[in-house]
Amino acid sequence: MAKNVFHKVLIIEDQQDMQSVLKRFLEERSYQVTTADNAEIGLELFDENQPDIILMDLMLPGMSGLEATKIIRQNHSDKAYTPIIMLTAKTNTDDIVTGLEIGADDYVVKPFNFEELAARINSALRIKRLNELLVKQSRDLEAANLKIITLNENLVDKNKDLRKNLFSLHNLFEISWELNSILELNRLINSTLLTMIGQFSCKSALFLLVSKHSKDILEIINHKGYHQKDVKDLYIDKSDPLVSYFKLHPMPYPLKDLNKRIPKSSAAKQLSALDVEIITPITIQDFVEGFICLGPRIKEKGYEKREFEHISILSNIVSIAVSNASLYEEIEQLSYTDGMTDLHNYRYFELRLKEEVMRHKRTKNPLSLLILDVDNFKNFNDTMGHPEGDQVLRKIANILKETVRENDIVARYGGEEFAIILPAVEHEGANILAERIRQKIEETYFEHEEVQPTGKVTVSVGGASAPENAQNFKELIHKADSALYAAKRSGRNLVKMYKPEMIK
Ligand code: GH3
Ligand code: MG
Ligand code: MG
Repeated sequence: MAKNVFHKVLIIEDQQDMQSVLKRFLEERSYQVTTADNAEIGLELFDENQPDIILMDLMLPGMSGLEATKIIRQNHSDKAYTPIIMLTAKTNTDDIVTGLEIGADDYVVKPFNFEELAARINSALRIKRLNELLVKQSRDLEAANLKIITLNENLVDKNKDLRKNLFSLHNLFEISWELNSILELNRLINSTLLTMIGQFSCKSALFLLVSKHSKDILEIINHKGYHQKDVKDLYIDKSDPLVSYFKLHPMPYPLKDLNKRIPKSSAAKQLSALDVEIITPITIQDFVEGFICLGPRIKEKGYEKREFEHISILSNIVSIAVSNASLYEEIEQLSYTDGMTDLHNYRYFELRLKEEVMRHKRTKNPLSLLILDVDNFKNFNDTMGHPEGDQVLRKIANILKETVRENDIVARYGGEEFAIILPAVEHEGANILAERIRQKIEETYFEHEEVQPTGKVTVSVGGASAPENAQNFKELIHKADSALYAAKRSGRNLVKMYKPEMIK
């Protein structure tokens, strides 16, 4: 009967003969038996040996079996469960009830049938095994429960994260709406930098965009958190590896990574010196036309993955907005510019002359207007053809631009007529400038000019000034026109400033 070899039985029994009979009976059935003559020793052996089952006589000298049972059940609830079978006399019914109540599992009445005892021991051990299984399962369950709690906590965190992300995306949507409604490029760039600084709590930000003067250079358009002197010389050549890198990888990158990936980029080094941490490209039709650079964060933590995604979304939005604003500016520019000569057109001239008349009225500063007309130009055109005529007009336009000061406004007034607004210039000053222009054009060689009646391309100029000759926009134009007419009548290639006797 090897199946019981590992089962340890503790017999607590003071009657020696009963004890030894029991011991022998059980040992024959391969139980490991320990015996105690009284409860005190029994409790000690219980602690030392950790028996699988206890046979407890209730009538013991000193501490009773009931008390011992109570102690075991009260003090050892943390240990593996040990079934207790009470051994008792027939008369002790009350004790049996009490024993079962305080935690004994079963009883046999003396004198007992040994086979019955064996069956009860087996049954108690089966209960013990089931109990152990239950304990194990409840432990497993507890572990599973703990896992669920952890998972749940993760889920709550994830949910929080998602909500945060949703909020930021909603924010981005609103920002996108706002940025896309800004059509003025400089205002757009300013708003972008303020938005970036606000959204990502960074100490500084830079906006570089392709230069209006050279398509090969990205220059700083606006910056926040820097001294002007630190950034004024910064520009990025479009041939820098940084630009080609972003053409292939159009997304935000930490600058320290880029320094490793493109060690030859001098732009990356320059930006490092400015404490830039993140660079994100502004791309227009797949070309890198600018960069937004973000400095370190106010709270000294790095940028999270989610924030990189948001920077990426924002820079895409800004790219589209910049493209729209640039197109808008170009169109606006076009509508104020004469396509052939690149001078301002009549629309612009009219707008500015009205403005300057208002300013003149306000400040009492003088204001002059010159109108030029090419002499006998119909002849040139008829002889040489329109395209050659256009060449002459372009050349005259350049001479005009070169001769006037920065504040003066040169416009193409009509077909072969030009106008020059001279803010803060009085009658005599205008006369001197007009004469200088007339002379310069006379002295300039124009191809095929020999076809003209005088053998030269010349202009006639009429001028008028406020306040002497005119009080308003219309009068000023009319008087200058009259003077021009007078110049033509007087033989061409002349300057005439308006005088009251000139009647048109
Ligand atoms: P004058 O200066 O004495 O008034 O003589 P004119 O021949 O210039 O006079 P008119 O105003 O009759 O002729 C102006 C000519 O200028 C008519 C046209 O052939 C020419 N013209 C006007 N606009 C353009 C232009 O955009 N391109 C060219 N090539 N010619 C133009
Ligand atoms: Mg004309
Ligand atoms: Mg003419």
